[in-house]
Amino acid sequence: MNADALRADIVKVGRRMYARGYTASNDGNISVRIGENRLLMTPKSVCKGFMTPEMMCITDLDGRKLEGDRDPSSEMLMHLEVYRQRPDVHAVVHAHPPTATGFAVAGIALDKAVLAEVLTTLGSIPIARYATPSTSELPAAVRQYIKAHDGMLLANHGALTVGADLFSAYYKMETIEHFAKISLVARLLGGENLIAREEVLRLQDLRGTYGIKAPAPICADDVTSSPDPATCQVVQAPAGDGQRLVPEPAPMAHAPGGPDEEIRLTYRELSALIQEAVKALR
Ligand SMILES: [Zn+2]
Repeated sequence: MNADALRADIVKVGRRMYARGYTASNDGNISVRIGENRLLMTPKSVCKGFMTPEMMCITDLDGRKLEGDRDPSSEMLMHLEVYRQRPDVHAVVHAHPPTATGFAVAGIALDKAVLAEVLTTLGSIPIARYATPSTSELPAAVRQYIKAHDGMLLANHGALTVGADLFSAYYKMETIEHFAKISLVARLLGGENLIAREEVLRLQDLRGTYGIKAPAPICADDVTSSPDPATCQVVQAPAGDGQRLVPEPAPMAHAPGGPDEEIRLTYRELSALIQEAVKALR
């Protein structure tokens, strides 16, 4: 894809991020790899909802500006670190989506096995420790997780996603915010039911079927050892006793209320029951 088309795509993604409330004012930044040692990047101090293609900067992987009237993003160092650590990554998106950022502020990682689509696309979403924005502290904090994760929260700051192309990096940002909203609602309703470890491993095997090259496998959930976050992902999933996503409903005999409890059947269900009973009588 040529650089002009990518400039236009960055504008489109910026508009979507702003429209969805993932950024306020001049927050957030986007970059795309356009060559061996060339990045296309959003400029400093512009609202992501009102960018134009010619505003973008071109830098090298050391952060030297090669083209553009404006200066590159104030979070350029974080983007450069990602490209250095992940040759497979071609796009980086940073934003402050409010629900995910709320989890980052509360210090709650999105690392529970809750939704199949999150487990297959992102796996776990850890929190990189707090670092002063725009300083070299932030790339250092991101370095801890970026080799094994395509998305992470940034403590007291926001979220970061990466991908093989711009839209896949952006969609991961949507997935993180969507997941954060669902997790929040589940917590308000009493807490998440977790997917069992066996199912998590089954989903991981399915990644190949969907053509998803996950950055790292989900590692064994062994609380006694501390897995290296650079090489594997930690997902909270209980050892299952063969159980699937949700426990099987309790049999009718154990229903509260006992044998005099009123139940409701559809006409089709009632007919099926009667037919079965008639068959049994024959
Ligand atoms: Zn930020």
